[in-house]
Amino acid sequence: MAIVTDRILRMERSGIRAILNLANQMSGEIIHMEIGQPHFPTPAFIVEAAMKAAAGGHIRYTKNEGIPEVRAKIAQKLMRDFPTLALTEENVLLTAGGVYGLAIAIMALVNPGDKVLIPDPGWPNYTMQTITAHGVPQYYPLRLERGFKPSIDDLERVVTADTKVLIVNNPSNPMGTVLTGSECKQILDFALAHHLTVLSDEVYDRIVFDGPCPPMATLRHPASLITVNSFSKTYAMTGWRIGYLLAEEEICRQLVKLSESFISCPSFISQKGAEAAITGPQDFTASMVSYYHTNRDLTVRILAQSGLRFVVPQGAFYALVDISPSRLDSETFAKTLLTEHRVAVAPGKTFGPSSDQYVRLSFCATTETVEQGLHRLFRFVQTGPTGR
Ligand code: PMP
Repeated sequence: MAIVTDRILRMERSGIRAILNLANQMSGEIIHMEIGQPHFPTPAFIVEAAMKAAAGGHIRYTKNEGIPEVRAKIAQKLMRDFPTLALTEENVLLTAGGVYGLAIAIMALVNPGDKVLIPDPGWPNYTMQTITAHGVPQYYPLRLERGFKPSIDDLERVVTADTKVLIVNNPSNPMGTVLTGSECKQILDFALAHHLTVLSDEVYDRIVFDGPCPPMATLRHPASLITVNSFSKTYAMTGWRIGYLLAEEEICRQLVKLSESFISCPSFISQKGAEAAITGPQDFTASMVSYYHTNRDLTVRILAQSGLRFVVPQGAFYALVDISPSRLDSETFAKTLLTEHRVAVAPGKTFGPSSDQYVRLSFCATTETVEQGLHRLFRFVQTGPTGR
C-alpha cells in the first residue's frame, strides 16, 4: 500500500519546474524565459520597514486573519483607487501569497466530487489545488481565435449541476489577456445563473499596458465572488509570501479557520512590508510596468516576424505562442530549444489538456535578455531542431 494517497501520487508537478530543473543542471549561461518573477529588487522603503519591524520586536504571531490595521489599510487603498468598491477590514484576509488565498478558497468551497471550472490554458496550480481539495477539474477552453477570452457558449457546454466554482484569471497567466468590464459582467451573469462562486485571481492586476484592469468586485454584481490578490508581482515581493483575499464578511470568517489550521498567520514581518508597500510611494510599480511595456512591445515585434500565431498580451508578462508549425509537441519544443539554443521557455502542456500546441514566454527579464532569447527562438523556428 502506498504511503501517500492516490490523488497526491497522481498529481503532476508543473512542467515549468521541470524545464527550470533541466536548465539548472546545464553548465554555462542560459536565457530564462520560463519563470514568472520580476527581476527587480523589492523597493528599499519596503525592505527597511520590514527590517525595522523585525528589529522592533514584531516577530510573533499575529491574528489569524492578519494585522487589523493592515487589513483596514488595504481596504482603504482599494476604495481610494476604485471608489465603487465598498470594503471594510472584515472583507480582507491577509494570506501567505496569492497561491494560499486560492488554496483556502478552493478548500472551503469544494465538497468531494464538486467540479471546478478551470481555464485551459491556465495556471497549473488551479488543477493541483482542486485535486488536493477532492474536487474535480473541469476545463473551459480559451481559444486563440477568440483572443484567448472566455466564451459563455463554451462555459455553458461544460457546466454541470456539480459545478461549484469558476476560476477566472485576469490579467491571465499564461496569455496576458485582460477582460473588459462587460466581459467580466457576462461571466458574473453566467455564474449567478448556475449558482457558482467566481474565484477571481487578480494577482497581475497592476501590470497592464493598454488601460486599467479594475477588480471584478467593482461591478458590485450579485454573483458570489472571492478575489485573490498579492504583493508578489506589483511590488516585486515574490519571496515575501504575502497576499490578500477579498470576500464577504461571513466567508472571511469561515476561511480564516483554514489559516488557523494551516499557517496560523502570514509572517508578521512580511505583513509590515506589505503595509509599507500600500502606504508608501507607488512610483516603483509604474516604472516597473513601463519597463515591461518596452519588453512587451519588443516581444510582439519579434514574434510578428516569426510568423507564429499569438495574441498581443495586454497585461502580466507572458506571451503564449502557437508552435504547431514546428510539428513538435510543447515539451519536445521546450527541451530542444533549451539544449540546442540555451533558452528556457514553459511548455504549453503544463497549462491544460488542450494547450500542447503552445509555449509560454516570460518577458519579465532584462530587455537585453528578452531580446536575445527571442532572436534565438526565431532562429530555432526557422531552422528546426538540428537532429532533423
Ligand atoms: N496566480 C497566478 C496566475 C500566478 O501566476 C501566480 C504566481 N505565479 C499566483 C497566482 C501566485 O502568486 P503568489 O503566491 O506569489 O502571490
